[in-house]
Amino acid sequence: KILIVSILVAYLAFKWTAPRFDPESLKGSRVLVTGASTGIGEQMAYHYARFGAQIVITARREKVLQQVTEKCLSLGAQKALYIAADMASESDPDKVVDFALEKLGGLDYLVLNHIGPTPFAMWEGDMEHTRWLMKVNFFSYIQMAWRALPSLEQSEGSLVVVSSLLAKMTNPFTLPYSSTKFALNGFFGSLHHELAMKKSNVSISICTLGLIDTESAMDKVRGVTKIPAYPATEAALNIIIAGATRQLDLYYPWFTQVVHIMKELFPWATNYVIQNYSYNYNP
Ligand code: NDP
Repeated sequence: KILIVSILVAYLAFKWTAPRFDPESLKGSRVLVTGASTGIGEQMAYHYARFGAQIVITARREKVLQQVTEKCLSLGAQKALYIAADMASESDPDKVVDFALEKLGGLDYLVLNHIGPTPFAMWEGDMEHTRWLMKVNFFSYIQMAWRALPSLEQSEGSLVVVSSLLAKMTNPFTLPYSSTKFALNGFFGSLHHELAMKKSNVSISICTLGLIDTESAMDKVRGVTKIPAYPATEAALNIIIAGATRQLDLYYPWFTQVVHIMKELFPWATNYVIQNYSYNYNP
């Protein structure tokens, strides 16, 4: 009972003191969203468009990006541009940031969201895939953040990193993915300290998501887990609000934070549930 009351009080206190979101603050803001051809990134592009932002989106598939930018313009974006890029390449991350800086004249938000496709399966020692995924999901993030930082300093802007509950607690079947997300949390959590110590005006938001109903995620877990999936459009809006209100941590849906706390308090019990009840696995 004490635990439940404490969690409830902490949650209410957080809600009470959280800064209010002003949608007007996003009008005309200069935003770069990665991984925006599908899923949560695409939904973020549409929300930013409705708020009247100027957007650059990126992913690999040019044709799909073109369709997303057209929809963004019809929803009210002041500008919507795209650049096709492969985040496994060493030069594309810089190229994308430079494109956004040139076309928008600077950046207020850098939203790092893309992920490379990865199997949902037991680890079979695939080093090549793991190295590749580390490039796409981790190295490109830090390269883009570093490239955009001088402009974000000028605009007192925000770095938004889309992460996962799998960066807070380990699970089976997603070893390479989970490793890239742990790396992101380690890097951007540490960068947050350094920016604060340098009295920088750039905020960092690290967004911890539970299962979200994007096509790529659902294709993997259908029939494998009963964990509930939450809507991508709502996840996207929550991420945008976290960035706009300069929150360091977002948990969406809210109970992912409770799951994380439970794991810290009762690791043995949580591991038992993960291994025996969370997934349908018959060797
Ligand atoms: P999707 O798989 O739907 O989208 C991934 C995006 O990344 C696409 O736009 C894809 O476009 C792009 N992409 C893939 N490979 C590359 C590459 N090599 N270079 C550049 N872009 C690439 O992902 P979600 O929307 O499901 O996830 C978005 C974020 O949310 C991720 O950071 C993920 O970790 C996080 N998250 C998602 C959860 C979920 O359940 N969905 C749960 C927890 C966290 P293209 O193929 O055109 O390149």
